[in-house]
Amino acid sequence: MKIFFSKLFYYSGIFNILKKVNLSNNKFILMFHGVSKNKSNSLNQHLQPHLDIKQFENIIKMLNENYCFLKPDEIFNNKKKGILLTFDDGFQNNYNNVIPILNSYDIPGLFFISTQHVIEPNNWLSFIKQNMKKYTVNQDILSADLKIDYFDGLTKDQIIKIANNPLHTIGSHTVTHPDLTKLSVTNIDSELINSKNYLENITNKPIEYFAYPYGNYNKIVIENVKKAGYKAAFGIDKINFFGESNFEIPRIGIYDDSKYYITAKLSVLNQKSVQAK
Ligand SMILES: [Zn+2]
Repeated sequence: MKIFFSKLFYYSGIFNILKKVNLSNNKFILMFHGVSKNKSNSLNQHLQPHLDIKQFENIIKMLNENYCFLKPDEIFNNKKKGILLTFDDGFQNNYNNVIPILNSYDIPGLFFISTQHVIEPNNWLSFIKQNMKKYTVNQDILSADLKIDYFDGLTKDQIIKIANNPLHTIGSHTVTHPDLTKLSVTNIDSELINSKNYLENITNKPIEYFAYPYGNYNKIVIENVKKAGYKAAFGIDKINFFGESNFEIPRIGIYDDSKYYITAKLSVLNQKSVQAK
């Protein structure tokens, strides 16, 4: 039904008008996760990254024709408008598949990394492990290439290389990717501080940006994100308003590369604007 209306609006041209009106005042932040080399026919699609390289490059080409791209700092500049691209979780496919495309178009990226699967390379993110169980996939039958392309985390060296590229920025996405609203204050603090410290130590750069796992946060989580020394924090498109605009920055999740889908996602009908100051 949503797709039907997206198509209807897209083909009626109304989205183009709305898009222009909206972007004249605002900026948008897009959220991606993993991007694989290819899709697999043998593995359940719920276990695969939503996008492959071809789809990702289609999206980048489409956006590049219509919008300017921002660096993270520029979302606080009222005069700037455009799009910031963010990538969650810290998949190794970001380094292998995403960065070469961004570099070739000279487009900045902000990479939010959960640090546990950097420190323990065999320890995949908890939601991947849960999905493996849910879809009863035996890890042993997966090829080494597919594991690297779909599930492995960035290595320490890859994170350092990304951080050393002036185009890109590293942010934190906790240590173990928990729902922070379900943790005690002590555990919230260790997720926020330990990931920040680890990334700062290896990159030798301040880690100023944070993304909430699952987009979940509350007043206590925001207070602790501020206390840990982050400059801003990003959610997803369901946002609560605690009047903390720099710590409740909404993002648009992108899971498809069709033109009508992208246009609909960037319309006022679908998305609240960024109000970071
Ligand atoms: Zn995540």
